[in-house]
Amino acid sequence: MKAVLPLFIFIDACGWEIIRRDPFARGCAPFRRRLKSVFGYSSACVPSILSGRWPVEHRNWCYFVYDPGHSPFKSLRPLRWLPNTVTGRRTFRRWLSKFVKVGLNFRGYFDLYNIPFQHISLFDFTEKKSPLRPGGMNRGPNIFDFLEERQIPYHVSSPELTEEANRDALLDEVSRERIDFAFVYWPALDGLLHRVGNDSPEVPPQLRRYEQWIQGILQAARRHYAEIRLYVFSDHGMANCDELLDLRSKIEALPLRIGKDYAAVYDSTLARFWFLNERAREPIARCLAGIPQGRIIPDSELSSLGTLFPDRYFGQLIFLVREGVLIVPSHMGERPIRAMHGYHPADKHSYAALCTNQPLVPEDIEAIPDVYRLMARDAELARRKNTAPSRMAASAPA
Ligand SMILES: [Zn+2]
Repeated sequence: MKAVLPLFIFIDACGWEIIRRDPFARGCAPFRRRLKSVFGYSSACVPSILSGRWPVEHRNWCYFVYDPGHSPFKSLRPLRWLPNTVTGRRTFRRWLSKFVKVGLNFRGYFDLYNIPFQHISLFDFTEKKSPLRPGGMNRGPNIFDFLEERQIPYHVSSPELTEEANRDALLDEVSRERIDFAFVYWPALDGLLHRVGNDSPEVPPQLRRYEQWIQGILQAARRHYAEIRLYVFSDHGMANCDELLDLRSKIEALPLRIGKDYAAVYDSTLARFWFLNERAREPIARCLAGIPQGRIIPDSELSSLGTLFPDRYFGQLIFLVREGVLIVPSHMGERPIRAMHGYHPADKHSYAALCTNQPLVPEDIEAIPDVYRLMARDAELARRKNTAPSRMAASAPA
């Protein structure tokens, strides 16, 4: 029997508005708090949680950036001759993404999404390592570096396994008392919400399923650990998309050439622009200023959000739509989806949530990067308490 198991369960997109009126995890994690999210997508939120730092510090923000000098995708350019009916298909893109990921030795999540092959050699992909592994950040350490440095044995979910397989792997390690820390990652709610929206009757059954799994893990863990410090938390919420914006065709109607005058990445809620000469900025900025569904985010605001990069690596101009608007078609998808995240962190449905069985969570845990401090603190605590005095005495020098 061990003393303490810190159990961190990360449920993607289980936002504050998703659980606010739902009794989710009330029985096992009754203390709840709304957490501020990080501006960006999971590509920004997950690394921020795992490192305790903001995008400007760890440099994991958006997946694709304009960087032709470092583009690994030059070999894909011939695919621009394939008909759009093939290259625009999600199944084809997913299949190809798998090959590209292996070929380029990318260790994190990788998807070609809907980047046109004609322009793909203009772009680099910024998450070549997995943030769920030690050394996985673009800059600085993450919680797994912290754990390895201190030789704290831990469990972390493998993104390539199903949620059930990851849960079973955790149960196995718990029953053998092999770990002093656990980080569980369940992504399915995010996919469901994107598909059906945040008010669908399909959402509560998924929350009930997660509750059952959490109960099962707690039951098993109680047989092997005297205290379980449970934290169930998320990275962002989910907003229904009720308005579509074809931003790309508005920009492409301007007398400017992609790759010569400017480059752009159209995410689902953001558009990021790079200007390759002086004459491109003004007409693009004027066009964007005339679009009522969004606005250009000023530098002062980017700075306060932790996403003002001095080298403008992720874009020289950032345009963000208001909550509920979806940029479509975008480089993320050809077709609309029911719901999306990646709006302004102050928008209602952006907020994340923390549910815990710990009554005394410090006041200054208020945004998702702060979860890191809870993880580091509890991992240290478990290391101290799980090192039994008898074992310490036995290994002490005579
Ligand atoms: Zn998502």
